[in-house]
Amino acid sequence: MRSSVITTVVENELCIGCGLCAALCPAGELAMQWNRYGEYNPIEVTPCTTACGLCLKVCPFADTGENEDTIGKELYGGVPGISHRPETGYHLATYVGYSERHRQTSASGGVATWLLEALLTEGVVDHVVCVTPTGDPEKLFAFRVFDTGEDVRNGAGSAYYPVEMSAVIRHILETPGRYAVTGLPCFIKAIRLAQQRNAKLQERIVVTIGLTCGQLKSRHFTDYIAALAGVQGEVTGVCYRGKSSDHPANNYHYAFTTTEGEERRIYWNEGIGEAWNNRWFTPKACNYCDDIFAECADVTCMDAWLPEYSMDSKGTSLVLVRSPQVQEVIARGQGICLNPIPVELVVQSQGGVVAVKRRHLAYRLYLDEQTGREVPAKRVAPERPKNPFQRQEIVLKNKMQVASRNLWNSGEFDMQYFREAMQPNLSRLAAGRQISEVITFPVRTIRYIQRKVRGTYYG
Ligand SMILES: Cc1cc2nc3c(=O)[nH]c(=O)nc-3n(C[C@H](O)[C@H](O)[C@H](O)COP(=O)(O)OP(=O)(O)OC[C@H]3O[C@@H](n4cnc5c(N)ncnc54)[C@H](O)[C@@H]3O)c2cc1C
Repeated sequence: MRSSVITTVVENELCIGCGLCAALCPAGELAMQWNRYGEYNPIEVTPCTTACGLCLKVCPFADTGENEDTIGKELYGGVPGISHRPETGYHLATYVGYSERHRQTSASGGVATWLLEALLTEGVVDHVVCVTPTGDPEKLFAFRVFDTGEDVRNGAGSAYYPVEMSAVIRHILETPGRYAVTGLPCFIKAIRLAQQRNAKLQERIVVTIGLTCGQLKSRHFTDYIAALAGVQGEVTGVCYRGKSSDHPANNYHYAFTTTEGEERRIYWNEGIGEAWNNRWFTPKACNYCDDIFAECADVTCMDAWLPEYSMDSKGTSLVLVRSPQVQEVIARGQGICLNPIPVELVVQSQGGVVAVKRRHLAYRLYLDEQTGREVPAKRVAPERPKNPFQRQEIVLKNKMQVASRNLWNSGEFDMQYFREAMQPNLSRLAAGRQISEVITFPVRTIRYIQRKVRGTYYG
């Protein structure tokens, strides 16, 4: 009999490639492999014999009867003084700041790496599971288990590249100890589902650090940006969050290194932003995610995408804490500069992601309903937006997502052909935006004046 995660999730293109199913399959019948779109999927190494369904029960994109609300409530609902917002899930405290020691080599303000090191130093955990460069062109990044601050620092930065957890989860199952794990929202959800069914994972994973996430990208995204940057050789390494003092934090660069020793860099405004924002090379599973702030994580780190911090090339973090244990570590914080910030500003910093994972998701679900496509239950109800430009934007981005995945997969890559194929939808999107700007100008002006009168920048 075939494994149910394959038929229900993978074949419906709902797999994000976290690897929890492969790690927990009691018969060891699943393994993680690249699919043709440059994403990880489980495959059956041998036909499923147990039909236990555990693979489906730990899948973040299967209908398990659990969602981020139910899991979050169980974990944090009883924490004294905790609050809840629909966008963020539970939140005990919110901060803005950085670690001076870490921020230069980190993605944002270096708070995630600082925290991982602090957890090790204070003896809260024995091991840290995070992502690190491998130097292997076939698999540029991977999850690894670390025991020292130095190793943890080598993993600093964001991997906008597929990584899967099957090996590290097996390691945790085999090796007693207390672990802290970093992960994107869907990965942390999968860990929580697995912890509900596995006592060892429940006991051993004692801290989870979530990263706010707009979307994951396939490995073809990195190939595309490397080609755009003019990289000729085989890529062995990429730093996705290069910082330079003459560029603001939100115009960071990717720096590629190759087997031939070549080094190339390309800035966000030189084409990364276009591919990122238009959902090129985004896995289909991301279309069905409604978790912005990693609601099942003990603490979530993200970029301070607010006007007063975006311009600082050194990078600044926002931190949303849910667990009292993490809150205590932060309160004792040595070498960290963190100040409280209203949760409203944390939500505002991720305005674009909130739109994609809530309003855009509602329309995607509506469109799926029309075509009869079966999708997992979401916390967002299907809805057709009234604004025709918003509908157009969502449809065009869906088309570009599909086209980018298929074009890269269609054999020899030809940059000119790819760009020509994407151009009509890019032009339609730009034209729609221009018309919308003209039509909404009076309303935006009135809102701007109202904000000025109220004296608040954020409104
Ligand atoms: C795919 C992706 C999408 C993101 N989208 C957004 C977004 O829309 N808005 C936003 O504000 N922030 C987003 N982030 C988070 C952001 O890029 C930073 O990771 C975050 O602000 C933490 O920065 P830091 O300086 O505190 O962390 P750092 O000190 O740089 O440490 C980051 C830690 O996370 C680990 N890590 C890196 N990549 C991964 C990964 N893929 N899976 C698991 N662990 C990983 C590293 O090993 C390291 O330990 C995203 C991150 C990723 C990987």
